[in-house]
Amino acid sequence: MIRLEHIGIAVQNRQASEALFERLLGAKPYKVEEVASEGVVTSFFKIGESKIELLEATHGESPIAKFISKKGEGIHHLAFEVADIHAEMERLRAEGFQLINETPKPGADNKLVCFLHPKSTGGVLVELCQDRRPE
Ligand code: ZN
Repeated sequence: MIRLEHIGIAVQNRQASEALFERLLGAKPYKVEEVASEGVVTSFFKIGESKIELLEATHGESPIAKFISKKGEGIHHLAFEVADIHAEMERLRAEGFQLINETPKPGADNKLVCFLHPKSTGGVLVELCQDRRPE
């Protein structure tokens, strides 16, 4: 893995949380993006080499809505940048980690992403992400 790319934070109300994080970080989000396949709207803040991703559910069946109803707002996942997501998925599968996605899928911020099940990672939802290369 190359670096901690971002930390995802589940929020109930994106506008309110954006205002809070603007005050906390002293910076404005540089991007707002909906990922319809995941049922989320995301806001990204850049913090040095890493980012904070706020995630708000767009409907009740969104994984973020389910997360908040179970655990409340807060840290949702850690995302690690990888150079070759397929190779890293193979490596982690061989190490016994449980992958939620069998194949990488399009995520926010022009990435290919894959998630590891928190059952196999000590309760931490882990995202692998790789920049999507132009075809
Ligand atoms: Zn993420």
